[in-house]
Amino acid sequence: MPLTAREILKKYFGYDNFRPGQEEIIQHIIAGNDTLVLMPTGGGKSICYQVPALMLDGTCIVISPLISLMKDQVDTLKGNGIAAAYLNSSQEYPEQQEILESCYKGKIALLYVSPEKLISELSMITQMARPSMFAIDEAHCISEWGHDFRPEYIQLGLLRERFGHIPFVALTATADKVTRKDIIRQLSLKKPTTFISSFNRPNLSLEVRTGTPPGQKLLEVIQFVRKHKNQSGIIYCSSRNKCEDVTTALKNAGISATFYHAGMSASARARVQEDFINDNTQVVCATIAFGMGIDKSNVRWVIHFNLPKNMESYYQEIGRAGRDGLPAETVLYYSYADLTILSKFASESTQSEMNLEKLARMQHYAEADICRRKILLNYFSENLQENCGNCDVCQYPRQHFDGTVLVQKALSAIARTGEKESAGMIIDILRGSVRSEITEAGYDKLKTHGAGSGISGVDWQRYLMQMLHLGILEMAYDENFALKITHYGREILFGRQKAALTILPPLKAREKKT
Ligand code: ADP
Ligand code: ZN
Repeated sequence: MPLTAREILKKYFGYDNFRPGQEEIIQHIIAGNDTLVLMPTGGGKSICYQVPALMLDGTCIVISPLISLMKDQVDTLKGNGIAAAYLNSSQEYPEQQEILESCYKGKIALLYVSPEKLISELSMITQMARPSMFAIDEAHCISEWGHDFRPEYIQLGLLRERFGHIPFVALTATADKVTRKDIIRQLSLKKPTTFISSFNRPNLSLEVRTGTPPGQKLLEVIQFVRKHKNQSGIIYCSSRNKCEDVTTALKNAGISATFYHAGMSASARARVQEDFINDNTQVVCATIAFGMGIDKSNVRWVIHFNLPKNMESYYQEIGRAGRDGLPAETVLYYSYADLTILSKFASESTQSEMNLEKLARMQHYAEADICRRKILLNYFSENLQENCGNCDVCQYPRQHFDGTVLVQKALSAIARTGEKESAGMIIDILRGSVRSEITEAGYDKLKTHGAGSGISGVDWQRYLMQMLHLGILEMAYDENFALKITHYGREILFGRQKAALTILPPLKAREKKT
């Protein structure tokens, strides 16, 4: 008698129970249907095609873009007693031939292959390895609407028609509605059922810190890491240089840290991963290159030193924390400077309209004054009924006050200096600084000089950010970031309109709480 799905789960993977969704998906595939699986990273997508592969006759062809991970995946399967193999261009011809012959003899249940390899040798591979099903991993790569488009995926569109009778399953951890539709269309899936697992990770706390000056940011991060003694964490930075700089600062503060980015050799990167996984390094400062395929369950926190370029990346990166289900913290630093740079990149990219839209959603999240988890899950088409209670907005609900006078002070300083100064200078004037640029320009003689000394520089920064969001101010990126007053701003300056501002939540919300 053939084994049931549950028996296979126990025998080969050692688990007693399926996770929510897995069994349904497996049954659906076994019955010969096409399937789209949307499950967060670490959710257990692989089991969804590996179990059917062991139940169906022939070879399950797994298409995966990450050649570097194939070997690990196959080794793990072999370790569990599953007949698996991979094909890639680094192998010698005889080795490839041997693998295909094993397939032909019906000895291989799962064959991993990259899309380009499969397409370039489609006839030979599929004649030798009679496909029982196709599993397309990281399926969002086929869509230009996704965030990781790979042209080599496009050709997979020809498979469905050619192999009419066997099930196809497309799997991804990140696909918004448009991308999902596009995956189905591009792969020509037949009457597919889409399974979406919950993306909610209630054990991850969500916090956004807005408008923190760079120097202060570094101090806060050092303080944060010190408070999380011996707890592994990742700091995502926007550039290679930033990764290295933050690492140096942490090391100087006596913290065990290292960096990881695409500019390093493969062996150096492997070493960093190894040390992190084995808890020899506490902190990795990394670009987005870090994390793909790293299975480390006890990452306790993730900090975004810079703003990610879309919600998909953000979700994936924070998702590397707390895989063990225990509480983990995430902090996102949000600044106008980052937003400006990312806007520039996005508008210069080939898909500028879409990338700008995705960035706008990221900005919306960072500037939210409702439960952040609601927004995050909503992005992935999931509705959260209750406020989560585990994000900074839930913990410090936003309240408004009449900020007219405060706004007028700032606007008056901007007006009196000719709308040509940047936020830093305006804040120094408001706070009554007598540094030489100020006295030389005669700004210390202004009526508003020192008029805002009761508010800290960081808080002024945050109020100015609000004024930008509210459309009271504009920033002229092409004039050294000079602040300009809008029509609405003028209405407030001349007392014809009022300005409602949000009461600033404590800067280090989390630190204060514990
Ligand atoms: P994904 O591909 O969705 O990121 P994986 O398939 O790599 O996730 O699974 C993540 C982890 O969860 C793996 O360690 C896997 O063994 C484990 N896992 C998957 N299904 C189950 C299950 N039913 N019970 C327990 N652990 C599971
Ligand atoms: Zn919340």
